[in-house]
Parts: sequence; structure tokens; C-alpha cells
Amino acid sequence: MTIAGAEAQPPRDCPLCPRLANFREAQRAAHPEWFNGPVPPFGGSRAELLIVGLAPGLRGANRTGRPFTGDYAGGLLYATLGRFRFAEGDYAAHPEDGLKLRHVRITNAVRCVPPQNRPEPSEVANCARFLAAEIGAMPQLRAILALGAIAHQAVVATLGLRRALFPFEHGRIHALPGGLTLADSYHCSRLNTNTRKLTPEMFEAIFAALSGCLNQTPREYAWT
Ligand code: URA
Repeated sequence: MTIAGAEAQPPRDCPLCPRLANFREAQRAAHPEWFNGPVPPFGGSRAELLIVGLAPGLRGANRTGRPFTGDYAGGLLYATLGRFRFAEGDYAAHPEDGLKLRHVRITNAVRCVPPQNRPEPSEVANCARFLAAEIGAMPQLRAILALGAIAHQAVVATLGLRRALFPFEHGRIHALPGGLTLADSYHCSRLNTNTRKLTPEMFEAIFAALSGCLNQTPREYAWT
């Protein structure tokens, strides 16, 4: 799959979003031991499933350098991946915990940490080239799981699809032109889980539905 405007990984000092670059510099000064850069994807590029989050959390992925790692949201995400055998090993909230992903890759719509966890639309648009590259570099990709409406819209825009034809709705499985599947979930954030907008059971139901869209589900493999 080739997508117009795709670029490989952002450079560590990516200048595309001045607000995010300034915020990153401030974090580097305040916490030089943190990762403080565009967070690269986690999981192999031959995965069949791509999970797209929103953006690194300040003390989570921005600190550790691995998506959803050290974030509250990572607790539910990695537990659910483990339950469906998309992940092997124990998630211990740091990138050296030895956790391995199988058939799944995780990235974010925006690679740099935004103030208050809120990227601006222009920042999502600037970062779309990297999401496009990510999608384009996954030859076995069959399904994308968007965590939240912003990630959903980033995927739809990146694939050049019309937003009105593919609205975000929790639990919806969209069949996209070209054979890809796009599944929508509420983001597994602390707010959504504490208010029970998203329960572990609701999240598991999405993964159960998605497993049926893959060539082989991770349960069908023995770990090697
Ligand atoms: N951490 C991430 O990496 N992405 C999110 O969307 C939330 C937390």
C-alpha cells in the first residue's frame, strides 16, 4: 500500500509542530532523563493489526519511549492484549519489561506529547505523514483499531476516505475499500475507564470481533 505524503519516522527534533517542539524542549530541560521525543511504534511491521492511540502521555510514553507504557491507559490495553494472546510476558510499565507483541503494532496519531493530552487538529494533520508511512510499511496489515475519535479521524484522513462515510462509533467495525477493517473503540483512558464509559468487557468485545478479521488469531499459534 502506498500512501501519498508518507515519510518514515519523525526525527528526534521534529520541527513540524512548533507548540509540541517547545513543549518537548521544556520537558527535556525539566526531565533530562525522560525520553522526550517522538515516540516510535511498538511491535513488528509484519503485524496484521495496527492499534492507533492518540498521543504519548506526559509521564507515560513520553517518559519511557514506548507507546502506552507507564500510562494509566497502558494497564488496560496491555492486559487485554495479553488476554487475547497478542502480547506475551508481563507488562511492567517500562520498556525493558520484556513484553513482546504478536501480530499487533501500536502507534499514536500524534508522536509527540501534547500539553494537557490534547493535540490540535493541525498537529494531527502534521503527523499524518508518519501514520501514513506506518500503514504503508505493514505488508500484512488487515485491521486497524482506533482508540478514540481523534485517532479514528486521523486514520480515515490518512487513508484518503470521507469522514462522513466512516463516522466514529464505539464498537463499530468498518469495512474499508481495499479490504482493510477499521474498528473503533473509546480510548482506554483513565477518564473513560473510571466513568465506565469503557469497561474491560466492552474493550474485550472489540478484540474478540477484531480477531475474526485476521488471517489467524493469536490464540491459534503456540508461543515459540
Ligand atoms: N499513551 C499513548 O501512547 N497513547 C495514548 O493515546 C495514551 C497514552
